[in-house]
Amino acid sequence: MSGLYLGMPAFPKAAKDSTKDATLRANLGHATRTIREKRARAVAELDDWDELRAAGREIKDRTLRRLDAYLLQAEQAVTAAGGTVHWAADAAEANRIVADLVKATGEHEVVKVKSMATQEIGLNEALAAEGITAYETDLAELIVQLGDDLPSHILVPAIHRNRTEIRDIFREAMGRWGRPAPEGLTDAPGDLAEAARLHLREKFLRAKVGVSGANFLVAETGTLVVVESEGNGRMCLTLPETLISVVGIEKVIPTWQDLEVFLQLLPRSSTAERMNPYTSMWTGLGPSKGAGGDGPTSFHLVLLDNGRTATLADRIGRQALRCIRCSACLNVCPVYERAGGHAYGSPYPGPIGAILTPQLRGLGTELDASLPFASTLCGACYEVCPVAIDIPEVLVHLREQAVDQGPGHRVEKAVMKAATWLLDHPAALAAAERAASATRGLHLRKLPLPGPAKAWTDTRDLPELPAEPFRDWWAEHRDRKDGTP
Ligand code: SF4
Repeated sequence: MSGLYLGMPAFPKAAKDSTKDATLRANLGHATRTIREKRARAVAELDDWDELRAAGREIKDRTLRRLDAYLLQAEQAVTAAGGTVHWAADAAEANRIVADLVKATGEHEVVKVKSMATQEIGLNEALAAEGITAYETDLAELIVQLGDDLPSHILVPAIHRNRTEIRDIFREAMGRWGRPAPEGLTDAPGDLAEAARLHLREKFLRAKVGVSGANFLVAETGTLVVVESEGNGRMCLTLPETLISVVGIEKVIPTWQDLEVFLQLLPRSSTAERMNPYTSMWTGLGPSKGAGGDGPTSFHLVLLDNGRTATLADRIGRQALRCIRCSACLNVCPVYERAGGHAYGSPYPGPIGAILTPQLRGLGTELDASLPFASTLCGACYEVCPVAIDIPEVLVHLREQAVDQGPGHRVEKAVMKAATWLLDHPAALAAAERAASATRGLHLRKLPLPGPAKAWTDTRDLPELPAEPFRDWWAEHRDRKDGTP
């Protein structure tokens, strides 16, 4: 995963800090409220939404069951169309492949379409270490990059910024990355968009290498699909001579007919649009490209595992691989709305991040082990998910695993073992109860446990023990009909 996220604190600590930021909370609250209301209206327009949702779920599940076969089919189709397929087991391998491909072109710059997969592997930082600058071209990603910031939302990575902050970032940083912001730039949306357009146009026209992700990979033809709203994706996919697409292996779908379902589910769930403004599709090089036609003259597809195969092996957890990254679950999540995306310590924030990140990275760090607990289990995320991922079910499943592996559980297991032995030996239990009653005057009213348990014990009194254990009282009184002494 990205080095940018390494060493970030566990969710409770990060969330405690971020919830104190009033500007962040106001920006997030306003943005998520607006998007989720629009989404609800867009979804309500379709009478067959539930059927579409069930179809999306079924297609993804069917594909995941035979993922190996569909990936090989896609590889064959991409290769037959003139592309080159590379397989990357982890982030380091994917980064090395991309860096070597860029170096082979002799270039030191690439333009990028917004891509969760490349954020996941920390590609920009890996390329920078090789002397290659990656320019983000999505408006929100540009704001994040210029602001030396981290993305905080899947769809709107700069959701935590307001217009005034964006104007200040443009004024301060654009000149260091290329064309400076226009004199007297205001925070009017049109002015900000124009400043970004002028800044980015230079990059598009100069770049010889483009790097993208993809929303879908259609196995039957090897076609990759990117859906976007700004047109920057279309520019990155068509202008450079070399195109490198880094795509998670779960993005494959079997046929074009399957794509029809997702192109209805995704725009309404993400931007609340009936159809997104730009849908770009590319298949290898195509017959005209190598012969001087439109588009790149060299195409490479890097298929990324990076924890996905391990996720697939988990019967409950594998649901997370159905995700089409629409971000609807983020926009309805009360925890995300208050804590913000950075608290999740990964490019995947919100409910999907809470189940996907600990599966991709494992539960080995304090941060990753804390993520399945970053939820109230209210179920709102499941209600809106267009592919019906039962996020609360996976959260509970991962909590079990986190507790199993955590140190707290070892103590709990030892206590449970002792209690089991005691309950299995009635004479010992009776003796323990009598001893407890006899010494009750010496008992503490609070249990001074250290560590995380302190928060629980500090606010709770221990119950007072009776002077006589119930079993002794019962032995004495059981023959009386009314049970009174
Ligand atoms: S989990 Fe569902 S709602 Fe959340 S981003 Fe993925 S597809 Fe969208």
